[in-house]
Amino acid sequence: MVSVQKLSLSAKIFIAMILGAIAGLALNIAGNPEWSQVWLTDGVFKVVGQIFISLLKMLVVPLVFVSLVCGASSLSDPKMLGRVGGKTIVLYLLTTAIAVTMALTAAVIFKPGIGAQPIASVETQISEATPFTQVLINMVPTNPIAAMADGQMLPIIFFAVLLGISITLSKEIGVRVSDWFKDMNAVIMKLVTLVMRFAPYGVFSLIAILAATSSVESFAALGKYVVRVFAVLFIHALLVYPLILSMLGRLSPFKFLAKLRAVALFAFTTASSNATIPVTLETVEKRIGVSNKIASFTVPLGATINMDGTAIMQGIATGFIAQYYGIDLSVNQYLLVVVMVILASIGTAGVPSVGLVVLAGVLGQVGLPAEGIALILGVDRLLDMTRTVVNVSGDSMVTTLVAKSEGELDMDIFNDPDAGLIFDEEEVKVQV
Ligand code: ASP
Repeated sequence: MVSVQKLSLSAKIFIAMILGAIAGLALNIAGNPEWSQVWLTDGVFKVVGQIFISLLKMLVVPLVFVSLVCGASSLSDPKMLGRVGGKTIVLYLLTTAIAVTMALTAAVIFKPGIGAQPIASVETQISEATPFTQVLINMVPTNPIAAMADGQMLPIIFFAVLLGISITLSKEIGVRVSDWFKDMNAVIMKLVTLVMRFAPYGVFSLIAILAATSSVESFAALGKYVVRVFAVLFIHALLVYPLILSMLGRLSPFKFLAKLRAVALFAFTTASSNATIPVTLETVEKRIGVSNKIASFTVPLGATINMDGTAIMQGIATGFIAQYYGIDLSVNQYLLVVVMVILASIGTAGVPSVGLVVLAGVLGQVGLPAEGIALILGVDRLLDMTRTVVNVSGDSMVTTLVAKSEGELDMDIFNDPDAGLIFDEEEVKVQV
């Protein structure tokens, strides 16, 4: 039977993910023999996967900078920026507080740490989380170019917003500069489109490596912990977000969630909110209908300061480690964990595994042994991928709410399920 089917880019990426999982599992079952290690998991798959991640990261700084300057310079009213900033930060902190509180409650009620089996001892690499005062100081770059070179998101945001405001204040000269940034923005979006064509190959490779090299035993030993984290992540994304969205924004959560497919796929495969920024921006603007003014500011900010999924892992892990070592935490200590997790999420960039490093700092504050991290290290990658999906969904949800409240959400786009096929999803005809 021959029929013609249209395959969009996100469908191709999804198929690549499934095929990658199948290929990786097949290698895993075969014990990942030496030839496949040399040629595939440490060879072709690794090269293709890493190049894909590098391509995405390559886009982040130019995209965030140019898009944010455009956004800030198109604000006719600088007061709006303060209002948008205030609402965004409050919502980001509030959702993180809900997330970590739910996680701690789940850890206290279901006690995942009692009777847990540690997996083979793993060397922990613990570095200190940055203190909050330093986060504030670091927000103002002494050298914006250096901040860009290091990919530090908060200083880049700070500089871009100030530059955008100055462009508006510079009247006619400003108009010329702003036109240049708008053109540049269009060019960079084209670059994003080009890079995305490579995504199916990158996704295939990354998932294949993960499936080929993960050990089933480590998951079995920490089963209770893994299941608790997954459960709270799902509740947060599929219950808490939809509730907030319909209560505060009077928006249909179903329409919203259906549009997040590409964002979720990229977050899952890259385990990095930062690397997902190009996809998140494109999605909230073209698929959901948020104006560039709002999205260019809230999305990069969210990738840095909003980590609900990470907070959930940290809450459950804290309970897990305390229970494993037989240490009873007081109510005050739990409250301290909540505050620490919220503050820590502000200063850390959305990159893979950063949540574990931050957790070391949180554990130290409440007097738990930071070595406890070794217990959960073995299963963290899959959890990292999943919590990153929640992190970016939270960024998109808050972005949509703030846009709605500012009259910057195009409801025709929001209500149209087919609006804004991502990355000019060219429709490829294939025969099946
Ligand atoms: N990978 C997460 C992110 O980029 C952070 C973490 O939980 O480690 O959002």
